[in-house]
Amino acid sequence: MRNLPMNSEDFLEELLLCASPSGQEDEARFLLKRHLSPFAERFYTDILGSSYAVLNEKAPFRVLITGHQDEVAAQIVRIDEQGFLYCRNSGFPAWQRLAGCMMEVINRRGEHIPAVVLNRETEHLSDQSFQAGKMYLDIGAADRASAEKLVSVGDYIVSAPNFRRLADGRIVSKALDDKLGVYLAAETFRRLAEHPPRGIGICFVGASQEELGSRGARSAAYALNPAVAIAVDVSHATDFPGADRTRPEFVLGKGIGIYRNANNTPALLERMLAVAERKKIDFQLTPHYAAVSSTDASVFQITRGGMACALLGIPNRYMHSQAEMADLHDVESGIELLTETIRSFRPSDSFLPPLEKQKNTRSLSK
Ligand SMILES: [Zn+2]
Repeated sequence: MRNLPMNSEDFLEELLLCASPSGQEDEARFLLKRHLSPFAERFYTDILGSSYAVLNEKAPFRVLITGHQDEVAAQIVRIDEQGFLYCRNSGFPAWQRLAGCMMEVINRRGEHIPAVVLNRETEHLSDQSFQAGKMYLDIGAADRASAEKLVSVGDYIVSAPNFRRLADGRIVSKALDDKLGVYLAAETFRRLAEHPPRGIGICFVGASQEELGSRGARSAAYALNPAVAIAVDVSHATDFPGADRTRPEFVLGKGIGIYRNANNTPALLERMLAVAERKKIDFQLTPHYAAVSSTDASVFQITRGGMACALLGIPNRYMHSQAEMADLHDVESGIELLTETIRSFRPSDSFLPPLEKQKNTRSLSK
């Protein structure tokens, strides 16, 4: 008998707890295979290790939906005589929020070795004091020989797993960036698979190495050559003490983020707004704090001859720390919006910009 698919809540928790530093993402891929294989026509990987689940992949109109399966990390660069570990970044961990936290070293055997990370300076701390080169890790080893039995130079370091449900539907965990986006896209794929839309190919990708410059997204978009590509990622919330108030307001609990900036195709944006209004789905429309976001969406838009592209953003507090916080209502509204938007697609749809002035600029919103 085929293994029953994991239920979605268990899947979310396991995904949040797994370790997937950019470049060593096997744990996330194994979970995605286990969860999505029963719903997919085909589940496979590529040479970078991205996770692919596809439905109706021969359809000429294909939609790519992604979250990035990797998480911010560091790598050991040196082990000293006393057994302390020194590191450099692989991505951009928020070290100022990580000092004193539990971490884990993932060694080449895939074992998780607990460690605590500390700051080498204890006085006169400045922003410069919280960089990879100013931190050290302590795994409790008595000396270098003892440390080297467990870890080696090149091993990845991630935040220790943690997941708690909090008040008002909020959750806290390391690496909601972007396990939560992966979950949103995977759950959309699962719902679409129950009644696959006719004539539309659906490609889910857990993209690898986003934190190192959207490397997996680039090769996936090239290989799949979709008509539409929608990336799901977390984005900085502005609703906590010390948040950057010069950024557009973006808050937990008010719905999924939809963006109006240069790397969101206008006609696709209009379609999503029309779907959200028609289906009464909560959303937050924002210009994004950057003219083009540093997410997989930016890469999709300029792959091959370009493709219709959008970013969905889940508001996230305390980015790249061990205490990332989000609201499950925003995730659910994102799943509904993505599912309903894809259900609205017809194989003849085009999202090209107009060649002449249009009489009715919101014709799709009726
Ligand atoms: Zn991200």
